[in-house]
Amino acid sequence: MPRRITDSCIACGSCVAVCPVDCISEGDIYVIDEDVCIDCGACQDECPTESIKEA
Ligand code: SF4
Ligand code: SF4
Repeated sequence: MPRRITDSCIACGSCVAVCPVDCISEGDIYVIDEDVCIDCGACQDECPTESIKEA
């Protein structure tokens, strides 16, 4: 399953740096394009607030 980012995101940017397909967009809360996400889980491992969940 692709990942999605929940409301607890603090917009730190750590997830963007590790995404191999660049499908995470910046914002007040970051957003994953679930159509592009390849479900690698790299972002989930980096998130300091555990804001990234399986969609
Ligand atoms: S699971 Fe992988 S491909 Fe999907 S958003 Fe996270 S780092 Fe990117
Ligand atoms: S690593 Fe987590 S807290 Fe940081 S921008 Fe990504 S989803 Fe938000």
